[in-house]
Amino acid sequence: MIMIIIIILAMIKLTAQRQAILDLINAFDRHWDADELARSLSDSGQSVGIATVYRGLATLEAAGMIDSIQLADKKRYERADKSHHDHMICTSCGDIEEFAHETIESLQRSIAAEKGFTISGHQLVMFGLCRKCSKGKQK
Ligand SMILES: [Zn+2]
Ligand SMILES: [Zn+2]
Repeated sequence: MIMIIIIILAMIKLTAQRQAILDLINAFDRHWDADELARSLSDSGQSVGIATVYRGLATLEAAGMIDSIQLADKKRYERADKSHHDHMICTSCGDIEEFAHETIESLQRSIAAEKGFTISGHQLVMFGLCRKCSKGKQK
């Protein structure tokens, strides 16, 4: 009996932590990595271990409740309720800008159609310098 209660309590705690991660992602318009989420949760008094954050993110993503972009070194997570967009990432300051362009979208559809390929999704990430950082470089 005590064992069952402990298991149930552990499950409730895990669900609450997952909910806290989801709430945090949904509350902001930004692209989080796991460390930033863990730090922000602990700043707000909810200490969630990094392993739990990774597991929670994987579960939420698999359920389609959050989106991710895969970068060279890590994944970043964002709200799933935004319309489709791609990303430009500054390799100097880490700024992430979103964009959507119908020409790119339709070009991808025609390339796939030509190849007989059925698209289930795509990610386009451009790396480079943002406006601020490229101005800094010109000085
Ligand atoms: Zn920059
Ligand atoms: Zn985004």
